[in-house]
Amino acid sequence: MKISIVGTGYVGLVSGTCFAETGITVTCVDVDKTKIANLKKGIIPIFEPGLESMVSKNINSNRLFFTTNLQESLSGSEAIFIAVGTPPDEDGSADLQYVLSVAREIGKHMTEYLVIVTKSTVPIGTAKKVKTAVQDELNKRGVNIPFDVASNPEFLKEGAAIDDFLRPDRIVIGTESEKAKEVLEKLYKPFLLNNHPIVFMDIPSAELTKYTANAMLATKISFMNDIANLCEIVGADITKVRQGIGSDSRIGYSFIYAGAGYGGSCFPKDVKALIKTSDTNKHSLEILKAVEDVNERQKSVLFNKTMKHFNNNLEGKKIALWGLSFKPNTDDMREAPALVIIDKLIKAGADVIAFDPVAMNESKRRIGKNIKYAQDQYEAINGADALLIITEWNEFRIPEWNKMEKLLNNKVIIDGRNIYDPNDMQKWGWTYYSIGRNNIE
Ligand code: NAD
Repeated sequence: MKISIVGTGYVGLVSGTCFAETGITVTCVDVDKTKIANLKKGIIPIFEPGLESMVSKNINSNRLFFTTNLQESLSGSEAIFIAVGTPPDEDGSADLQYVLSVAREIGKHMTEYLVIVTKSTVPIGTAKKVKTAVQDELNKRGVNIPFDVASNPEFLKEGAAIDDFLRPDRIVIGTESEKAKEVLEKLYKPFLLNNHPIVFMDIPSAELTKYTANAMLATKISFMNDIANLCEIVGADITKVRQGIGSDSRIGYSFIYAGAGYGGSCFPKDVKALIKTSDTNKHSLEILKAVEDVNERQKSVLFNKTMKHFNNNLEGKKIALWGLSFKPNTDDMREAPALVIIDKLIKAGADVIAFDPVAMNESKRRIGKNIKYAQDQYEAINGADALLIITEWNEFRIPEWNKMEKLLNNKVIIDGRNIYDPNDMQKWGWTYYSIGRNNIE
């Protein structure tokens, strides 16, 4: 069996590689020539644990190919997955220009029956637009080639993407076509040996399922952040509250950590896009609007704590940051809280020096030399007036406290991920601020 995947970002590259892992032949297509040239040599453009070796292995087995030529990839393919970006447009809606440009390309070049699958996160009605775009091109060519469309949203998490793809909780497929259903069932069968289901549904429901999943997770995070801020006012501890509610099986423990706000390439844009879809349909998603507001506010909480500690004067203060990526195990900084915090610190006159185990190149690409970068976590705090913890990388969890004490100018930590125990910090004489717990001054 042979398939094509268009877009070799987090989703396209992981999906293509994992499909190749099952023995089928996969051609990955991208417009980015440098990316494709590197991928052909086994150099991957992102940090994703386990991905590089899996890509190399499948290239060497002649099952995984890379090209910038979509036409070339179509020959013999039974299905083509569209996995290009859908960034937010100016009004918050998903920008479909890349998805529809791929659809037109497919229409221009396809020569035999094909299942065209949208894997990108796309608003309701997109599969219909894809179908029209392909059909328009076929009409222009004056040919009659049958094809079907399907919606197959992706639920993988960056940092655990391979495991999520190989062992998914569920596969969601929206299609009206029995033939498309058969092709996709055959493709996904190897990933469902754990008896997790393929959930077949109509296309609009599949498109909405992806947004609803991300909106629900973002809601959990904002809800807990809101409660965390209340905890600080009334003297409660959000980590205790979390344990108290998480043990209720109706609620569960996941996604109820308080922190510095959600970021990444998905939650912020998908929450915005769902609000937009709803507004366009004259329905106001009030809960989701509040989720977004709370998150915007939360991204400033660490900065506000820092300002308060230094009596609203950060002029000339050296502030060290541990963590830049929006979460651990990825170098992705799209919509990362670190970007908001850095911007505010610089505007307030602080000198910022950061360390992140993998995201520093990405940070340099995004914000250049606005901040300094350290070789390791201890170099970052050398002579710093305070340390801010922004991403909960494992290596920050048990630091060498003696070294920390010697290197920092002041024993001040402002922790956006609650990774230390406030009792320990008090015992050891630190000034320690965290989220939704008793602050120790
Ligand atoms: P990405 O930005 O990492 O990658 C997109 C790729 O598509 C880029 O390499 C780009 O060069 C390529 N591209 C753009 N136009 C193209 C064209 N016309 N032809 C060929 N290639 C083209 O994006 P991503 O993070 O992989 O996300 C892709 C989609 O999947 C988005 O809709 C996103 O919301 C969704 N999604 C992402 C994740 C995630 O964790 N990143 C998870 C689930 C779903």
